[in-house]
Amino acid sequence: MERQRIGFIGLGIMGQHMAAHLLNAGYPLIVYDLVAAAAEGLVAKGASPASSCREVAQRSDVVISMVPDSPDVEKVALGKDGIIEGARPRQIYADMSTISPQMAIRVAETLAAKGVRCLDAPVSGGQVGAQNAALSIMVGGPLDLFNEALPMFQVMGKVVTHCGNNGAGQIVKACNQIQVALNFVGMAEALVLGTRAGVDPAVILKVLSGGYAQTRVMDVRGPKIIAGDFAPGFKSKFHYKDLNIIMATARELNVPLPATAIAHELFSALLAKGRGDLDHSAVITVLEDLAGVKARARES
Ligand code: NAD
Repeated sequence: MERQRIGFIGLGIMGQHMAAHLLNAGYPLIVYDLVAAAAEGLVAKGASPASSCREVAQRSDVVISMVPDSPDVEKVALGKDGIIEGARPRQIYADMSTISPQMAIRVAETLAAKGVRCLDAPVSGGQVGAQNAALSIMVGGPLDLFNEALPMFQVMGKVVTHCGNNGAGQIVKACNQIQVALNFVGMAEALVLGTRAGVDPAVILKVLSGGYAQTRVMDVRGPKIIAGDFAPGFKSKFHYKDLNIIMATARELNVPLPATAIAHELFSALLAKGRGDLDHSAVITVLEDLAGVKARARES
């Protein structure tokens, strides 16, 4: 059977790796990013460049997008020169960005009128997960469409889960981001307290990661935090965007999220300090500023 032609829109920290896996797996790949240079590496490896989202849709059986936020997906899918202008009946569109569940549903309903079948398929696992094709992919949309798209998702991820109807993937991603944000804040408070009391944060990390307090967040980012390395990774401004989505969804559903609300404010402070392009682990710097101490490993 001939391989589906896949169009990939958004070739940033995540998208460039995810697209490369599809290319390496033998899918003919059409690529587009607002920043033309972002496509260069993939084009050198055999991908075909397009000059708009409309063109990507015209030339692909499946379109994937991996762009920052809800308004970006709205533009990519429904805007001028967007997917909607090049859409063909029975085409598949999987948006893998993290956006509001409401926008995912609106895009799916609007494109359905053109015969396009939509999935929301946000991911967890970060840059490392994207590089290693080890993402957890959470999918909302019809089950038969999920099954049809599954082989393609399995090229990019390790755990691929059908979560429910359109929008359900984004709901599960919101749940994921609550957990990750609170992990970061908990780790930050532990490191700041211990450092202020005079203990080397490297010792604190070693002990905590060997017991019940161990988390993946701590394993991946803890050593970088105490080395003062906040290069992204996952940009703080994106986690703030996700916390905005979470709090709006919680308000709509009348669900109080007191701990997440505090994390939301700490990320707001981080952005106010002009640190939105640092990795989300940089939320510790807000707590460090409050306590007047930096949790950096001692020179050995
Ligand atoms: P990024 O900023 O590195 O990349 C986004 C890319 O999209 C950029 O290259 C940008 O030029 C392009 N883009 C924006 N608008 C566009 C448009 N209208 N048309 C074409 N291209 C457009 O961001 P990223 O870190 O790759 O994140 C992408 C999405 O994945 C976000 O929703 C983010 O929340 C989510 N996510 C990121 C991570 C991570 O660790 N980086 C992990 C999980 C989920």
